[in-house]
Amino acid sequence: MIPFTLEKAATLQDAIKAAAGGARYIAGGTTLIDLMREEVERPERLVDINALPLAGIAADGDTLVIGALARMSDVAAHPETRRLQPLISETLVEGASPQLRNMASIGGNLLQRVRCPYFRMRDAACNKREPGTGCAALHGINHVHAILGTSEHCIATHPSDLAVALVALGATMRVLGPEGERSFPVEDLYRLPGATPHLEHNLRPGELIVEVRVPGGAYARQARYLKVRDRASYEFAVVSAAAALDLAGGVVREARIAVGGVGTRPWRLRAVEAALAGKRADRASFEAAARLAAEGAVSRAHNAYKVELLPRTIVQALEMAGGRA
Ligand SMILES: Cc1cc2nc3c(=O)[nH]c(=O)nc-3n(C[C@H](O)[C@H](O)[C@H](O)COP(=O)(O)OP(=O)(O)OC[C@H]3O[C@@H](n4cnc5c(N)ncnc54)[C@H](O)[C@@H]3O)c2cc1C
Ligand code: SF4
Repeated sequence: MIPFTLEKAATLQDAIKAAAGGARYIAGGTTLIDLMREEVERPERLVDINALPLAGIAADGDTLVIGALARMSDVAAHPETRRLQPLISETLVEGASPQLRNMASIGGNLLQRVRCPYFRMRDAACNKREPGTGCAALHGINHVHAILGTSEHCIATHPSDLAVALVALGATMRVLGPEGERSFPVEDLYRLPGATPHLEHNLRPGELIVEVRVPGGAYARQARYLKVRDRASYEFAVVSAAAALDLAGGVVREARIAVGGVGTRPWRLRAVEAALAGKRADRASFEAAARLAAEGAVSRAHNAYKVELLPRTIVQALEMAGGRA
């Protein structure tokens, strides 16, 4: 591991000041320390943010407010999460192992790096790790890679399960930085790879995630997360779907759907949602709408199965959300 300095921020202002001077934030360290050991990430200065008052989980009316330092396991088990947004509980429990969930924070989860194996192999070409070197995954082992939002420069999937649920539910996030505070949809945090896959998110230099706000909606109580993975124990998604339904008399009033494991960022499926509105909540409607999910998909040598698996996963998630599976 390359030497680095570590300081502990006592206040939000201390943290912002340290980051403005070039330090990186560290919360649970479950991603960052791993990458530093492998020398994929090489920060010279770290600022430990764990003493900051950002671990709260509370209801603000029907909005669930989650502090960026709340641990995945605490958020999953919290009564307000279960009451207002059961999809968030279900999704978090599907991510990582119990030990990791006890350490890992919400802010860190949203900013974890990709799980493309070549990203972690320092002798492999990787535009995300070293811009301009190429992409070993394009013609390599790419069965776990993305089919939506890819470019000729990067085809890595976004790994966070939580981000998929937050995007489906229309969550927003509050951030604080050297230029002050701002809020925006979680969906807008993530960039497409295009020709600059090393730029993964839209945070400005030194910005700290403070909290995530998940608004209520009639769909929130009928919401489920289905994660298809290569093994039953902890593993990242091959394909996943967060589906939420507002139903009246067996008819869909509003549907919210986002998918993981297939996109270079968490992928909201507005065309599928629109196709479901006003339709009966039955398998035929779900199948017809889910067919739109893979439109525009670009597959590679080993991941074409995802084009078929994606709509099937969505149909099953919708059936689970509608109470039929
Ligand atoms: C074996 C294994 C399996 C896993 N499986 C899954 C899985 O199935 N699904 C899943 O979703 N995740 C999975 N994970 C990822 C895990 O959820 C993340 O490692 C974890 O959530 C990161 O949180 P952290 O607090 O440890 O982040 P850290 O490692 O502390 O930080 C990660 C990044 O976020 C930045 N950061 C942290 N907090 C903030 C903040 N408040 N504001 C701005 N920047 C911040 C850091 O600078 C760093 O760049 C797995 C991890 C491992 C090791
Ligand atoms: S898919 Fe992206 S992360 Fe993986 S090797 Fe290619 S550029 Fe790197």
